[in-house]
Amino acid sequence: MTGLPLRVAVVGSGPAGFYAASALLASDDPVVEVDLIDRLPTPWGLVRLGVAPDHPNIKAVSRAFERVAREERFRFLGNVEFGRDLTHDDLAEHYGAIVYAVGAQTDRRLGIPGEDLPGSWPATAFVAWYNGHPDFQHLEFDLSHGRAVVIGNGNVALDVARMLALTPEELAPTDTTDAAIEAINAAGVKEILVLGRRGPVQAAWTPVEVGELGELAGADILVDPAELELDDASAAELEAAAPTVKRNVEHLRAYAAREPEGKPRAIRLRFFASPVAILGDEKVEAIELVRNELVDGRAVATDVREVVECGIVFRSVGYRGVSLPGVPFDEGSCVVPNEGGRVLGDDGAPRAGVYCAGWIKRGPTGVIGTNKKDATETIERLLEDARAGKLQPGLDASAIDELLAGRGVAVVTQTGWEAIDAAERAAGEPQGRPRVKLGEWDELLEAAGLDPIAR
Ligand code: NAP
Repeated sequence: MTGLPLRVAVVGSGPAGFYAASALLASDDPVVEVDLIDRLPTPWGLVRLGVAPDHPNIKAVSRAFERVAREERFRFLGNVEFGRDLTHDDLAEHYGAIVYAVGAQTDRRLGIPGEDLPGSWPATAFVAWYNGHPDFQHLEFDLSHGRAVVIGNGNVALDVARMLALTPEELAPTDTTDAAIEAINAAGVKEILVLGRRGPVQAAWTPVEVGELGELAGADILVDPAELELDDASAAELEAAAPTVKRNVEHLRAYAAREPEGKPRAIRLRFFASPVAILGDEKVEAIELVRNELVDGRAVATDVREVVECGIVFRSVGYRGVSLPGVPFDEGSCVVPNEGGRVLGDDGAPRAGVYCAGWIKRGPTGVIGTNKKDATETIERLLEDARAGKLQPGLDASAIDELLAGRGVAVVTQTGWEAIDAAERAAGEPQGRPRVKLGEWDELLEAAGLDPIAR
């Protein structure tokens, strides 16, 4: 390397992007400058727009991201969309290295009839809506029916079920959007039915999330004790399982033993049930389920079927990565092919100066903190390559600024984001809420001091 700092573009400002930026800025050989690029005017990815609003402690990780953002060699370039405003070739020309940390931008499909009926939603859309994502504020969720169904046994399924069950008092101090608070408070939903295709031992959720269900003020948690009677294979699996799995099952056993208190809503956790069709003429009216048996740990359908009436279905069966133009992509696993974060080309060899981190590197698994180790591994490889003389420093920062300005891109800088942040916090303060989010593109750009029509 020359004496010049290495300039790195990190694409995506969620946890993986911030942990990557943090590891890059900690290096003194080489010294690194980071531009953190995001298509939204706001940083933090799923910490802002995915983590449930009643989990402020999880969102507190954003304080660590704020510290990274205060570093002198860090810049936030928000409202800059990869593939529209900047291509891979643009980045390759301007930066010594690129780290893709774009997460998993869509949801997995069930592949069953009726999946696209009005009222059948990816859980991720509901999550984005109640969290104020500006692309999702026009959505209208019909919560008038007495039963909502959530398919999947992951933490997102529990987030959705819990959010639907929160009382007005529980919602009020959160940064849930006002529209979502109003809709949840007015909902006719009495039962939230959460369906697992396998058993309680195989559920993907984690104990804290299962345990807090039991503390909800407005919802009983219903579990059929018969579904907790384990077959030999599951009993052996539980015996050998991690303590977290054991704690999950203990929580479920406690719920099964509880008498319902007649709270206004109930979350019913059912297992060994797969959806085979979502039914309805013009919108969701019911869901058809098949009873499963576990065979070698897999869910295998029996011939026992039933139809359960419901008015809305949330499909919460995992996120899915999406390919980026000009960047290798494995269509099977929906990740960027990589070795420890070094992106591999079609020939299986590392592509010089191109890296990935987070969900687009390893798939949509793990909690926020998992991305620290993941991103650190990537950045170790990147710095190794830099020290081995495999990377160029990249062009001066003014070059990318001029390119973006020439293309009419209104960049939301760190200062712009801080103005949005301050406006949101100021709006939340008198209501005892952490913030009232701005959910429209125009509002966000205006608060950042930009001309809203610039986008
Ligand atoms: P997930 O943990 O991968 O769970 C997906 C669930 O969907 C599993 O129960 C899976 O069952 C089920 N599923 C998959 N395909 C299905 C099908 N065709 N029919 C029925 N069920 C199906 O995904 P997630 O809930 O989207 O969460 C993503 C990641 O974010 C996870 O690592 C999660 O822990 C994390 N997260 C954490 C928090 C938190 O810490 N509070 C909150 C939200 C999300 P099988 O096991 O049978 O495949």
